[in-house]
Amino acid sequence: MDCQKLAERLLPGNYPKLSYYEEIYPPRAIEKNAEVTRLAPSPTGFIHLGNLFVAIANERIAHQSGGVMYLRIEDTDDKRRVEGAVEAVKNALRYFSVRFDEGAEIDGDNTYAPWYQRQRAEIYRAFVKDLIVRGKAYPCFCTEEELSALRDEQTNEKKITGYYGEYARCRNLTEAEIFRNLDAGKPFVIRLKSAGNPENKFTFRDEIKGEITVTENDQDVVILKSDGIPTYHFAHAIDDHFMRTTLVIRGEEWLSSLPIHIELFSVLGFDRPRYGHNCSLMKQDGETRRKLSKRKDPELSLEFYRQEGYFPRAVRVYMMTLLNSNFEEWYQKNPEKPLEEFPFSVKKMGKSGALFDLDKLNDISKNELSRLTA
Ligand code: GLU
Repeated sequence: MDCQKLAERLLPGNYPKLSYYEEIYPPRAIEKNAEVTRLAPSPTGFIHLGNLFVAIANERIAHQSGGVMYLRIEDTDDKRRVEGAVEAVKNALRYFSVRFDEGAEIDGDNTYAPWYQRQRAEIYRAFVKDLIVRGKAYPCFCTEEELSALRDEQTNEKKITGYYGEYARCRNLTEAEIFRNLDAGKPFVIRLKSAGNPENKFTFRDEIKGEITVTENDQDVVILKSDGIPTYHFAHAIDDHFMRTTLVIRGEEWLSSLPIHIELFSVLGFDRPRYGHNCSLMKQDGETRRKLSKRKDPELSLEFYRQEGYFPRAVRVYMMTLLNSNFEEWYQKNPEKPLEEFPFSVKKMGKSGALFDLDKLNDISKNELSRLTA
């Protein structure tokens, strides 16, 4: 296979040398222990308590260490994009005093811009092209119908679903077959040619959960969609590298994607940021505990607190109580102090589900309000 020729055909044109991006997005001139963190929401218009939960942690860690917190908009999925969503994110977080130093529509340093992933398409494509040249990525012509038939087949056979190993049909197409498909104008996506083996397990140090066992990824995940826009997985790896992120605190729903992210960083030749997967917000529902749900629980939406007239500081105090196990005690001793004076620590973050309870929030609110002057 002439990978150079294939790459030229799939992504024609001249792209900058990869080293160019290292030059225009240089390592940040910050202190050694300063953390660069981010909030990276999709502009779906729904900004929720889980976003605020990780945003407060990321903000505290960055600012306490003399680092930087930025806002990146992960808008690779155009179908889910909602007009005005970025303003809504910014307003909601400002309401709860989460301060960004840089990022989308933030008045700050723009060295690491653009902050919208759709505006970074060229960077991603340059790296995808390089992966094709290196034989680490390939075009896949499978249609939606074929993929859905594959999923049914795997489900029936009680196999793990997805595009991997023997199921990854387009992985072994010959050069002639690929060019024939391209000549016929068949749409294609680009997939990672995973080198992982699910038999291999390794230990990963999560900043919050501690040592966890991770299984190597073997899914040939899509990295570039047929419209030339990358998937979230690929874009976030490039961005966290070039925005020089040092620590990612995000929801634990992303743990299952971690093996993919680890492989992507490795194949791209980038050092990884450290990751901390934060526990989910849970609700007591009768006898059981479950995750807060968009459908059932209006209190999941940040809009709820504004509409109901909650004092933003009370919500923040409650979030801090849930984030750091020693916060409550500190706050009892220092009720008048600015919350920023609390020494926030990743080590004190909970490893499993935090119980969110509106009665508790109401109680905190009452205390907060009673301390205000007339
Ligand atoms: N765009 C993802 C989200 O909407 C961000 C995941 C991450 O923080 O890596 O939650």
